[in-house]
Amino acid sequence: MPAELRHQMRAGQHPARSVPCPHCAARAHRPCTVPSNGRVLTQPHPQRVSDWAQQTACCPSCQVEPATPCHDEGRPRTTVHARRYQEAEETAA
Ligand SMILES: [Zn+2]
Ligand SMILES: [Zn+2]
Repeated sequence: MPAELRHQMRAGQHPARSVPCPHCAARAHRPCTVPSNGRVLTQPHPQRVSDWAQQTACCPSCQVEPATPCHDEGRPRTTVHARRYQEAEETAA
């Protein structure tokens, strides 16, 4: 894995920071913040982690390719399947 990513993980930064956050509009590689008061969060918003997993990994549950949203038997989901998070973490590791 790239040294930069390894460094981020050692520093406790979530790999989902590599994508922008759709919830608080944090840019890529910037931390999530609370929109109402600007407080910096140590963990990314759940929707950001979902987007990151979607960009990074195929889904073992519904068999979609990276960048394609998960679905439940054809019905689109707003977040990805649990197994896709694991897949993305293994890809990032
Ligand atoms: Zn956020
Ligand atoms: Zn899925």
